[in-house]
Amino acid sequence: MGLCQSLWMSVVLCAGVGCGLMATAAEQLEAPDPASVWAGRQGKIQPVPVRQVRLEGGFWGPKLQIYRERTIPHSWQYMGHNLRSLRKAAGVPTVGPFNGTWDEANLHKFIETIAHSLGIFPDPALEQKVDEIVDLLARAQRPNGYAHVYIINEGKPEWDPEFLDGSHDGYVLGHLIEAAIEYHANTGKRALLDIACKAADEAYDHFLGPRGVPGFCGHAELEMALVELARVTGRARYVELAKAWVEWRGRGVVKPFGDTPRSYFQDHVPLRQQRVLDGHAVRSTFFATGVADLALATGDADYRLAANRFWDSVTLRRMTITGSTGPRQEHEAFGEDFDLPNHGYYESCAACGLMDFAQRMFLLEGGSDTGDVLERVLYNAVLHGISLDGTNSYYQNPLSDTNRARYNSWVCCPPNLSRTLFQVGRYAYASGGREAYVNLYVNGTAQLPMEGATVGLKVETKYPWDGRVSFRVLAEEPARFALNLRWPGWCESATLSINGTPVRPLRRSDRGFVRLEREWRANDEIVFLMDMPVQRVEAHPRIQGCVGKVALQRGPVVYGFEGVDNDGRAAIELPEHPVFRVEARDDLLGGIQVITGQDAEQRAYVAIPFYALANRAKSVQEVWVAQRDWKPGETWWEGRLYRNAGERKATAVAPSPTEKDAR
Ligand SMILES: [Zn+2]
Repeated sequence: MGLCQSLWMSVVLCAGVGCGLMATAAEQLEAPDPASVWAGRQGKIQPVPVRQVRLEGGFWGPKLQIYRERTIPHSWQYMGHNLRSLRKAAGVPTVGPFNGTWDEANLHKFIETIAHSLGIFPDPALEQKVDEIVDLLARAQRPNGYAHVYIINEGKPEWDPEFLDGSHDGYVLGHLIEAAIEYHANTGKRALLDIACKAADEAYDHFLGPRGVPGFCGHAELEMALVELARVTGRARYVELAKAWVEWRGRGVVKPFGDTPRSYFQDHVPLRQQRVLDGHAVRSTFFATGVADLALATGDADYRLAANRFWDSVTLRRMTITGSTGPRQEHEAFGEDFDLPNHGYYESCAACGLMDFAQRMFLLEGGSDTGDVLERVLYNAVLHGISLDGTNSYYQNPLSDTNRARYNSWVCCPPNLSRTLFQVGRYAYASGGREAYVNLYVNGTAQLPMEGATVGLKVETKYPWDGRVSFRVLAEEPARFALNLRWPGWCESATLSINGTPVRPLRRSDRGFVRLEREWRANDEIVFLMDMPVQRVEAHPRIQGCVGKVALQRGPVVYGFEGVDNDGRAAIELPEHPVFRVEARDDLLGGIQVITGQDAEQRAYVAIPFYALANRAKSVQEVWVAQRDWKPGETWWEGRLYRNAGERKATAVAPSPTEKDAR
């Protein structure tokens, strides 16, 4: 028995549960498998469904309106080749260019975007358009369930073992599954979910059935989708397949094309031996998310340990201040630790992936560092990826640039950005047992499922422009639970009151939250006031491009300098003792707050949020800038990648640095 075959046997044997489940997905949805791998998650932290959060007014309300009114209508024009391919596969005579291997996933990501939008903004005409696509998908699907339309149209073999690294079979199916789950959740319609389950069953039979062959897709994505499908349907077999795809990696099962390194598709080292997240930034981040999902679904300590190793390697050593990863254009890869050039590659999809990875790590570990990263990525890298009018996007998100064309056309990123941004409500809240968690501060309302009751919260805030957040409890009857408010890593002082009475001292829990447990009554009001000064941030001294430089950050928003605001200059020099003014500019770039001051030559400057850079004329841009007579702090990093430069004043009286700084 060869390695591959024995691995296959071990996966099948250890997976066990659910192999014989052949009931339809419809039956499973109504009567979830009591042996479901997800049963053990009862009472643990769960995300709150998108449709149970209303983002109205504030920062996000207008943005969601833009994505609904501009982004979705604009996106249809890029679906032509996908729809032609689909019609052809469905037997409708069609001519014209068709989609290739991977871009079929764009249609699925777009359907998922619409599904989220329908959950927030019902729109029967838009729903009808999707229903017509679902009908075509059903007709295009092969009788055995295989659904990758490109392969069907080309008459190629399913899961071609000669092309697993490049065919994107699993990537496309993963996005189909995610679209189906969300379309069902938001419209109640089953047809697309049935297509997805049938396709996932075909994949299971292909790889883990009696004549199964080991293999996995070179672009991770299916793993996390399968775990979610298992959660929704109660069918454990989908987790078995996700496990197999993770376990087969790093064992030489898949042939690489050309001289592509195996790290490109996470096949360079078996999971338990993999120390860091490397290779293709998007693929590996999706892979890490799938590993974290498996840890959540199975409780397996090896998956949890691996997910934590990957999390630390990315967030402590391989992430820009804006939350981007993957600086190298060659193979779109991570670099070595601290290899974070300001003019790096930094694909938008990698940022979207990191948000999902952060959310899974929160569900797994419950620490506020995950929300800190999620917030950093969202307000900076992800928002920068999409233009302010919602109709353009950047593939790359460098921190130093000239607004050159950065593949800002319709590739993989646009529908990934839109599906991610419609889920801000899901990222904001979580609950489990009698604990409610607020990870992002967003204006609107949320219905949080709690043990024995659903508790509503009405949130009023101008965050991220203002650190004041007020919560009003919406509950028909008094309910005892703990409200956990994330104390952001950037926030050094805060106050809080309940019904006008200050809570003193205000404690930050071990996990980084303000935990407020009591019997809450309707209309109880909590006011959380986070001090939000302009901060100068310095980077770990091993990040070469940032040595001796500082960046400006206020709240979670990282700022940048753009030539168009500063007489053609972006690489300004701050004076030795900079004084910052914050100004609301409703007329500028969709309504932002700018930071103004005088540089070392006493010339006025304007800094704008990083996410709003490159939305005007061609112009130079910089995030990290010099400061006159600035001496970078080389000690007391304690594993951190970025810190408030002003913090060193406070540590000046601390004991002499020791081995803590050796890291
Ligand atoms: Zn992309």
